[in-house]
Amino acid sequence: MTELPPPSPAVWVDVVVTTPAHSGLGDSLTYRSERSLTPGALVRVPLGTREVLGIVWALREQPPIDLDPAQTRVVGSLLDGIPALNERWRELVAFAARYYQRALGEVALSALPPALRDLPADAFARRLKKLPVLTAPPLEAGHSPPDLSPEQAQVLETLRAATQPVLLFGATGSGKTEVYLRTAEHLLSDDPHAQVLVMVPEINLTPQLEARFRDRLGAHGVVSLHSGLTPAQRLKHWLSAHLGQARIVLGTRMAIFASLPRLRLIVVDEEHDPSYKSQEGARYSARDLAVYRARLESAHAPCQVLLGSATPSLESWYAAEQGRYLRLTMPGRIGGGALPRLRLVDMNQQPRHTVIAPALLQAMAERAARGEQSLVLLNRRGYAPVLACHDCGWKSDCPHCSAHAVFHKIDRTLRCHHCGHTTRVPRACPECGNLDITPVGRGTEQIEEQLAGLLADARRPDGQPVRVARLDADTTRAKGSLESRLADVHAGEVDVLVGTQMVAKGHDFRRITLVASLNTDSGLFASDYRAPERLFALLMQAAGRAGRDAAFVAEQGSSVELWVQTWYPQHPLFAALARHDYPAFAAQQLEERAAAQMPPFGYQALVRAEARTQEAAQAWLTLASQAGDDLPGRDRLTVYPPVPMTIQRVANVERAQMLLESPSRPALQAFLAAWQPALHALRTRPETRGLIRWAIDVDPLAI
Ligand code: ADP
Ligand code: ZN
Ligand code: ZN
Repeated sequence: MTELPPPSPAVWVDVVVTTPAHSGLGDSLTYRSERSLTPGALVRVPLGTREVLGIVWALREQPPIDLDPAQTRVVGSLLDGIPALNERWRELVAFAARYYQRALGEVALSALPPALRDLPADAFARRLKKLPVLTAPPLEAGHSPPDLSPEQAQVLETLRAATQPVLLFGATGSGKTEVYLRTAEHLLSDDPHAQVLVMVPEINLTPQLEARFRDRLGAHGVVSLHSGLTPAQRLKHWLSAHLGQARIVLGTRMAIFASLPRLRLIVVDEEHDPSYKSQEGARYSARDLAVYRARLESAHAPCQVLLGSATPSLESWYAAEQGRYLRLTMPGRIGGGALPRLRLVDMNQQPRHTVIAPALLQAMAERAARGEQSLVLLNRRGYAPVLACHDCGWKSDCPHCSAHAVFHKIDRTLRCHHCGHTTRVPRACPECGNLDITPVGRGTEQIEEQLAGLLADARRPDGQPVRVARLDADTTRAKGSLESRLADVHAGEVDVLVGTQMVAKGHDFRRITLVASLNTDSGLFASDYRAPERLFALLMQAAGRAGRDAAFVAEQGSSVELWVQTWYPQHPLFAALARHDYPAFAAQQLEERAAAQMPPFGYQALVRAEARTQEAAQAWLTLASQAGDDLPGRDRLTVYPPVPMTIQRVANVERAQMLLESPSRPALQAFLAAWQPALHALRTRPETRGLIRWAIDVDPLAI
């Protein structure tokens, strides 16, 4: 009699993979594995006809009852040689998926570097071998630190004992970065394995910050994570963080999902910046997740979170007012320099058709003559936002969007900034043949051109003509062009820098003494209730680029100024701006928000639908609203009627949205969780034909 072989010690594992959102496959799939696996292990598993990357989420004793063991597929291979993603990381990802109403697989897998998702196990093993093996390198001593200002010293002392999230409310140029550096330094020297995550709102801020961290802490163990890296770089940096080799990770919002097994500090610089909120896929707020992540980590080992800004978000400001966050204040600038004096230019008093007030031009020319720099802010790229024919009324509309195509003179194109559609500028009006079609309004390209003309007679100290340069998405597209342009500014090669909000953020320019904002008013009267908050922050940030080097300003005997051109000089926002009084501005805004039960006093979610027709988009939203009628939390919710989005059509797709509001975050969350399956079920309804996609935006920034 032959004995049967013992049954193989198969284990059952739930693996999270990217499943199509509407597949109804649930959060994870069950596989069989011949080898024992741990939760968080990275595996390659069969899915349909492909093999994909998956994360082992849970082990099970038995297969689920509705699963035929014989049908269950087998885990393909394990990515050997790297530790599993730890429990806190998995909790963070699971929370983000739940809170922002997305599939777990989508959030978890998109948090990993794309190269990791795409590499087969053997290729991965080869790649891993090539990585330099370092075990949490000690940080080399770099440049010696400056003496702390009394404010910095005070803040650092309080910080060390803080257990709550900290809001560092520091004026522009007050030396917030030095506080981040010192805090990181302390932590890293106290604990030879500790890791620090530092987030910045824009890629273009990472090189300068990276240089500062490297200078101070040594080049070893500082890596960056952002979308500007090649897939290979991103994989390498990600791995060094995951393996504990990188001690400091600098990155944009995506870095919040980096695997950092020994995370002890998260810094969110310019925490008010809207770019921390993702605008596609899972629409997460990296700032909010930072606070959540620090709490998760703290259950394991203390992890601090430090939010820094000169103009905090009203959410964070309110949290500090309530005592949920600890507010630390640094009102003074390093070196005792003054914040810029506000000079309002009343456009009603200017000669007709003034683009740049003569007094402002004069001030820029004088500064250039003394070897100082000016910065001109205009939040619109291109030459002109639209071309028009004054005979027949034709406008350069994008054929695919409810928006104008922007005139770019440099290559004589009309480009839609929403769908990318690009055409050559027509020789004559396409409607009536009029040869005289003209640009209407102004973008950065035109301002650069006009300034060069208007300042043609002005001279630099060396007798050379004044140099005007531009910094926006168009001039910085080519790799390295941003760095080289910024280097020119730092080196004093540029006298007047024109740019979009890109120039306003974070940069530590040393010789700028004048900042000018040209088309400020659009932010004053926008329908979006957050517009004043954003405008105030932008102007304060922009102003903060001026007069950063107090010694230089004193030597020059110059005055540091923020010029704002406006048709509404009496607007109360400018009164607070003139006093640099963010607290007063915030108090006034919070009062309005409280009265209207707006965030942070109420909670919102936005449902967006895209369809072939506006009717179909709105019909789907109406059905969606009805489908939620009896769900938990509904009684504490206001559901507004569907409306077209501000830009109603993009790339031939009609867009509509519906706002949900509740005084209770748990009620809103309970409702959304119950609502999701109902929304997916609507797919089968005949009325929803023509629907292309829908998505939920929790805590939306723009409504
Ligand atoms: P913020 O981020 O608050 O706008 P930064 O951290 O960039 O300000 O600091 C402004 C400038 O002051 C930087 O050039 C920085 O190197 C310098 N700085 C910061 N702290 C000190 C200090 N204690 N002593 C001398 N210079 C300092
Ligand atoms: Zn015409
Ligand atoms: Zn378009």
